[in-house]
Amino acid sequence: MSAPPISTEIIPILEDNYAYLVTYTPGYAFLVDPADPPLVLEFLQSLPTPPVITHILTTHKHWDHAGGNKKIVEALTPTQPSNPISVVCGALESHATTTLPCSDNDAIALGPHSVTCMHTPAHTNGHMCYYVGTAEPPVVFTGDCMFKGGCGKFFEVREGGRAASCGRGETVGGEVEGRGGWSRVVGDDAEVGGEALVAKVREAKDKGLHNK
Ligand SMILES: [Zn+2]
Repeated sequence: MSAPPISTEIIPILEDNYAYLVTYTPGYAFLVDPADPPLVLEFLQSLPTPPVITHILTTHKHWDHAGGNKKIVEALTPTQPSNPISVVCGALESHATTTLPCSDNDAIALGPHSVTCMHTPAHTNGHMCYYVGTAEPPVVFTGDCMFKGGCGKFFEVREGGRAASCGRGETVGGEVEGRGGWSRVVGDDAEVGGEALVAKVREAKDKGLHNK
């Protein structure tokens, strides 16, 4: 049986950054790094039937990724009182609005899909990527870890760490669809991929974490 599809909407925010709206089952969606609340809320309200937002996935602590969580939750909660929003963030970078701190290889069940949390220290020590291996094609949200053709600055990288090979940014060739953060490397194209990420995805598959 083929994997259920997911629908990913790219929301350009700030000057050249991306947030994502991912509908994983009809009427229900999660956001990734919605750092510009007015713009993201306007985008949601422009949809014919705005989905219920069940989760916000935060790739890392920087304001241009995590800084909108509080206002998004405050704005949406009254509109969906029966569906509290889980704010997911790497356990090493949990902040006041985090309700679901996550660690490497944690799985979050979302309808027919499962999101695998991948600890990818480099840009920040607690940076997380989020891999939806149950989607067809599989999708990974990479934040400032990796872009097409490169990756985010290694502000907090540790020598010999998992992200040491992160800089190559070679394309994945259809195996995985990548969704990254800043566009300064990729122009107006948010498709990304890379060897380090492929290795992580394979690791997750090997461990059966994609729940297929
Ligand atoms: Zn950053």
